[in-house]
Amino acid sequence: MSQFWSKIVHTLTPYVPGEQPKLTNLIKLNTNENPYGPSPKALAAMQAQIADTLKLYPDAASTPLLQTIAQHYGVPVDHVFVGNGSDEVLALLFPALLKHDAPLLFPDITYSFYPVYCGLYEINYQTVPLNARFEIDVADYDRPCGGIIFPNPNAPTGVGLPLATIEEFLKRHADCVVVVDEAYIDFGGETAVSLVAQYPNLLVVQTLSKSRSLAGLRVGLAIGQPHLIEALVRVKDSFNSYPLDRVAQAGAVAAFEDVAYFDDTRSKVIATREWFTAELAQLGFETLPSQANFVFTRHPQHAAAELATALRERSIIVRHFKRPERIAQFLRITIGTPEECAALVTALKEIL
Ligand code: PMP
Repeated sequence: MSQFWSKIVHTLTPYVPGEQPKLTNLIKLNTNENPYGPSPKALAAMQAQIADTLKLYPDAASTPLLQTIAQHYGVPVDHVFVGNGSDEVLALLFPALLKHDAPLLFPDITYSFYPVYCGLYEINYQTVPLNARFEIDVADYDRPCGGIIFPNPNAPTGVGLPLATIEEFLKRHADCVVVVDEAYIDFGGETAVSLVAQYPNLLVVQTLSKSRSLAGLRVGLAIGQPHLIEALVRVKDSFNSYPLDRVAQAGAVAAFEDVAYFDDTRSKVIATREWFTAELAQLGFETLPSQANFVFTRHPQHAAAELATALRERSIIVRHFKRPERIAQFLRITIGTPEECAALVTALKEIL
């Protein structure tokens, strides 16, 4: 008997998530969470669900949430899909939209889940190197492909693409799906949702984990034309899973409705990022221009791994990727509160 399960164990390389240590006395700046917490209105909406209705099954189609998202972005309801975190949306869209004979393309330095899904679904892929400035260059993607996926802004670099470049991707690759993973878009990027009406090959993916500070709730979404959304729904229904539980649906609706809190907290993160980047420059760090809630930075004289260890000894956790080699000299640092970032600057002054 062929041991197919053995092949699974030996060939699949699982995603390695950032560390989630106990929070006591730690400044945790390693997994791009939002330091401000969810909207108080979202918390109240979730508490009301817990108090009153958990004995009932949730709305299987998440209809009120789809309507809220559609209204928020000015798209028809049949253009919206929701899932348990954008990771689930990605897990469904890889088999639904990206499996072709030609390879899927994505940057060589990007969200490390993409090759994991390709392994899982046996999707042929090619990575495309970022250019010398660590940017995604549309000209480098001029080759036959079965789909394209990249984050905008990219992770872990934080470097964003203008809308005109996204449109260039859509025009040059009209025959395949282009997925723009906008996990960090609200911290300074320009969303591609406005292009969805014109481009049937565009799927935009977003999450409530970052700019709406609901990483623990697991809510993600996709916006695209109905033929793409229908394919996602078909794959999801094949797993017989409810998209979202009652608490998640209620919290997500209220989080979208609380625009004032969203604007206030994301502006604070952006302001702290600008201050923090200037402080890092004073210390001799070179930081890539970030449109995200994190910065990607290196010091010409100090090894990133050693800096990460020294920070950890001072109870501050940042992310260091050993591979690919081109980024092994960088640290990825999440933007926390001004106090957390100031503590990090103080620690770096001690270390350097
Ligand atoms: N896309 C990118 C680029 C990310 O960095 C992340 C967060 N790790 C995700 C998607 C997934 O986020 P979530 O599942 O919390 O929505």
